[in-house]
Amino acid sequence: MFNSTKIEQYFTSLSARDWRAVVLFFYSVLFQLAILSQTPFIQVGFLIHFYGAVLLFFAHHLLLYFTNSKNHVLSFMFDFAILFYLMAQHSVLSSFNLIVLLILLFIAGSELSKTSSLVLTMFSSVCLSLVNLLSIRWEGIQNLFTLVLFNFSFVTVSIISQQFRVQLKDLHSELTTVTKKLRSREEFSEILIQQMPTGLTAFNQSHDLLFANKNLTDRLNLSVNDLRTIFTQTQARGQAEFAYYNPQLQEKKIYEVNQASYEDVYLNETVNLMMLKDVTEVKHLQDQMRQREKLAAIGQLAAGIAHEIRNPLAGISGSIQLLSTDAKNPDDQKLMKIILKEIDRLNNLITEFLDYSKPESRPDQKIDLALVMNDVIQNIKASPHTPKNLSLEIQVNSAMILGYADKLKQAFLNISMNAVQAMLNNENPKLVIKLETFGDEVVLSIKDNGSGMPEEVKKRIFEPFFTTKPKGTGLGLAITHKVLESHQAQMQIHSEMGVGTEFILKFKKA
Ligand code: ADP
Ligand code: MG
Repeated sequence: MFNSTKIEQYFTSLSARDWRAVVLFFYSVLFQLAILSQTPFIQVGFLIHFYGAVLLFFAHHLLLYFTNSKNHVLSFMFDFAILFYLMAQHSVLSSFNLIVLLILLFIAGSELSKTSSLVLTMFSSVCLSLVNLLSIRWEGIQNLFTLVLFNFSFVTVSIISQQFRVQLKDLHSELTTVTKKLRSREEFSEILIQQMPTGLTAFNQSHDLLFANKNLTDRLNLSVNDLRTIFTQTQARGQAEFAYYNPQLQEKKIYEVNQASYEDVYLNETVNLMMLKDVTEVKHLQDQMRQREKLAAIGQLAAGIAHEIRNPLAGISGSIQLLSTDAKNPDDQKLMKIILKEIDRLNNLITEFLDYSKPESRPDQKIDLALVMNDVIQNIKASPHTPKNLSLEIQVNSAMILGYADKLKQAFLNISMNAVQAMLNNENPKLVIKLETFGDEVVLSIKDNGSGMPEEVKKRIFEPFFTTKPKGTGLGLAITHKVLESHQAQMQIHSEMGVGTEFILKFKKA
């Protein structure tokens, strides 16, 4: 079938050089037909000239084509010369030749420079006069008039084609800038759409996926089916938070879904856009925040109560001490001792708890950790809980950091006393304490050969009130953790069941 758009495409893709060849080709065919229609006066001599000329045209354009050269003023001159030659040979069809000449002049003017166009016009004018002079019969005024008219038409065509060329050039440059601008916009939106931290999809009315951006495919890990399910289930709502079990990730995720639609003129249908954002983490953090606020409020309340319990405890303790001096019965005295011991324990618990609930501030005093650690070691040695046969290996070098000596002493003591307590069943208990400076890092290691901890215990040791000891408070390491955190210290724990435990603390050197 006839395909008009294909032919259209073909013609718009032709360059000025191709047009020139097309014009000359049709010219040759038509000219031949015109000559043949003049039977019975076929002039064999002219036919030889004509075919010679066509061969020259043909060879010339083939050369242009194979050397891939652009239109040039000299090659135009060559064509023109042949045309004028034919005109001189066969004056009957000279007006026909002239029309072709004008067309070629137009093509030349629309592609070549102003000077080249002018040269060609002059050349045509001179050739025309020569042809007129040499071969066409002189018919006075009439002939002169034709000559002027033709010259006039040469100039006009030249000027018009030049203007055409300028306008075409302007249009071209305008088009280039517009295209460039458009392309940069397109690239900008493409990058934006692909890289934005939100997943973007487009569905048509029959729920076929038209588009999915990079974020969606790379990070959200959702298949086309998942997307379709989310799309259909949230379509009525426009904007929604949607909980969805992601089969690829095998976990429940919460997505913030936004939907919008528009009429696509190009696709000629309604396109539904869906934006997806994984807000699981945010939701989780929000929940945690809420929980923390609640806990903080409870903590404050508890701290208040703990503080209030201390006063009556002091009263009870004082009274029992008075009573115990008067008590004669040894059973009563024993009971009172128990009461006093338990009150002591309660007091300790409250002190630790209050310590834990106090907010920490950033330390700014320069202290020597070696002094702190020596204090701790004295405390360990003096403690009644420390086994007599404990062997202590100590290697403590001076190391300056920014910190609170009292708090750090408490923290180190908590770790050390835990170590001592873990070695109670060991026949050869050994505690190794090392304090060294590496570069701008101060490293403290406290290592025991005690019971060690199973993984479940190790995970929970910093939780307040977590303890595995019958009389433990579970606050020691919670406080330690808080102190170390406020000192921006890093902590590593290596523990192996039946082998022992090592706490490694790293501080920044001051
Ligand atoms: P508490 O000493 O009152 O139990 P802590 O917070 O000081 O509370 O310690 C929590 C738990 O961590 C202990 O009950 C114990 O199970 C474990 N733990 C801490 N240090 C060691 C250690 N060096 N060896 C074995 N277990 C330890
Ligand atoms: Mg403890």
